[in-house]
Parts: sequence; structure tokens; C-alpha cells
Amino acid sequence: MDLCDIREIKQIMNVFHLNFKKEFGQNFLTDRMVVEDIAALCCDADAQDSTILEIGPGIGTLSCELAKRYRRVVALEIDTGLIPVLKFTMGSYPNFTVVNEDVMKADLNALLADAFAEGAVSVCANLPYYITTPILMKLLESGCPFENITVMVQKEVADRLCAHAGSKDYGAITAVLAYYGEAEELFTVRADRFVPAPKVDSAVVRIKLHKEKPYVPKSEAMLFRTIRAAFEQRRKTLPNSLCTGFGELPKETLTAVVERCGHRPDIRGERLDIAQFVTLSDALGEELEKKKMDEGTTA
Ligand code: SAM
Repeated sequence: MDLCDIREIKQIMNVFHLNFKKEFGQNFLTDRMVVEDIAALCCDADAQDSTILEIGPGIGTLSCELAKRYRRVVALEIDTGLIPVLKFTMGSYPNFTVVNEDVMKADLNALLADAFAEGAVSVCANLPYYITTPILMKLLESGCPFENITVMVQKEVADRLCAHAGSKDYGAITAVLAYYGEAEELFTVRADRFVPAPKVDSAVVRIKLHKEKPYVPKSEAMLFRTIRAAFEQRRKTLPNSLCTGFGELPKETLTAVVERCGHRPDIRGERLDIAQFVTLSDALGEELEKKKMDEGTTA
């Protein structure tokens, strides 16, 4: 069985009376080299003992390459129709398990405690494009001790995830991602390497999660609030952009905080890297505390 052969993929779908579901982002990979490269690169070189959480196994194209290489693969697939297909295509891999569940509703910590009791865990997925960022945020915010998260996403999303501070692709998601780990764009995959072919090219991004975060804010919530506010009005200067997200502080105070953190008042938020965002969010947090105390003493 060649799960990369378009004719065989279509035959399998026919036999199981299935259509490619657009609403689930079903664009299946058809390039064997791409599938092998993703499977080989999603873990560190010496990680055969790793276990893999796969999101959206489809008919099992990537799953079988993962199952050949790693100790255990647990996959979450939302489409109930694909479960019998996976039983058929993955039947000869006892180290593969599929759970018929929406990743956005899954309790990842419980799944990890249950299915991945020992050894390192990495995530590998050709992600459904309609929900890329929410899935990434869920994985990052879950607190699960993933070593690597390797995902195929639209090329323009990949460029955003891996952008450097100050570049046109750099955005709130880039800064948030940099807080959790280091993202690297591994390679591009042309749209005609999928069936059905999506409208745009894709790229594979590997995020190596920090074991210990190099920059630790006093409050994570304040850090994310600061990043969101800084990018809210991209064309405006940082103090102006912060005005919207920190309406309780006057613009003069916000300008003074930005200057105290070592920036010119006309800097834009997109120039700050994650270390600078952490410093800024701590300073804004202090300013809000000071305001609360002042209000307390004058009340
Ligand atoms: N891994 C296969 C491949 O590379 O050929 C299929 C990838 S396809 C781009 C995305 C897969 O994710 C589909 O199988 C789709 O049904 C599944 N999917 C979509 N939304 C999902 C969700 N919320 N939770 C779990 N699986 C999902």
C-alpha cells in the first residue's frame, strides 16, 4: 500500500465512502520524501525512544513513517469517518493508537499522563489550515513538557512564526512563540504535493521548546497583554499603541515607561524582541501596581 500515491488515496476514500472534507482542512500529503523528512526531523537525532503526539493523521500517511521511527505514536483525529481507514492502514503498527477527538477539546495533560507515561514527547502534524494558530496556542499554553513541536502550516504563517523582530512578518504570535521556544523553518512544500491541492504553498516549522525559559516575566498574563497591545495598532508608535490596551494609564506615563526601558518614544512595537517585551511588561505591571496603591491612599 502506498499512501502517497494519489490513485491509492482516492481508492481508499472511495472504498470507505469518504470525501475530502474541506471543513476539516483535509489536504493529504502525496510526496514520500516530504513525509520521510518531516518524520525524521520532528525529533532530536537520537530520539528513537521518543513518543509522538500526532494531530490529524488523515489516512495515516505521516503516521506510518512516525510509527516506523519512534517508540509510540498517539494521534488525535476529529473525523470519525477516518477511524476505520486508520485501523486498515495502520493495523500492522502496534505502537500506533488513534483517538477520535477534536484536539481543541482534548485534555492534553490527561492524555500525556495516560498515553505517554514515560519518555520524551514531541508533537508532529500536518495541521488543518483553518485552525493553525488556535492549535499552536493550545499546545504551547497546555504546559505539557513537549520537546519539539513540528508542524506543516501555510508558508506565510511559517514566515510569521519564524520572523525576526523588526521584519515585516514579525507579529504578536512570533513574540509569544519566542517566549515558549525557538522556531525554525525547515523547508517549503509546494501546493501540488497534496491532494486535494490547497491554494498556497506550505512550510514545515520545528519549534524547540525551552526546557527553562530564558526570559521570565513577573506575570505571564501581563506579558501577553503587553504583546497584544503593542501590535494592536502596528503603524502607531509603541506608546500610542499601548494607549488602547492600557487605557487606565495616561499616555505620558506609558511614554515614560517605554523610555525607562531604554527605547526612544517613537519606536514601534514590532522592533521589540521577547527579552524587551518581558522588561516592558514588568515595568507596566509595576506602574499599574503603583496606580492601585496611589488610588488606595487617596480614597
Ligand atoms: N496527516 C495527514 C497527511 O499529512 O496527509 C492529514 C493532514 S490534513 C492537512 C489535516 C487532518 O487533521 C485531517 O485528517 C483532519 O480531519 C484533521 N483535523 C482537522 N481538524 C481537527 C481537529 N480539530 N482535531 C483533530 N484533527 C483534526
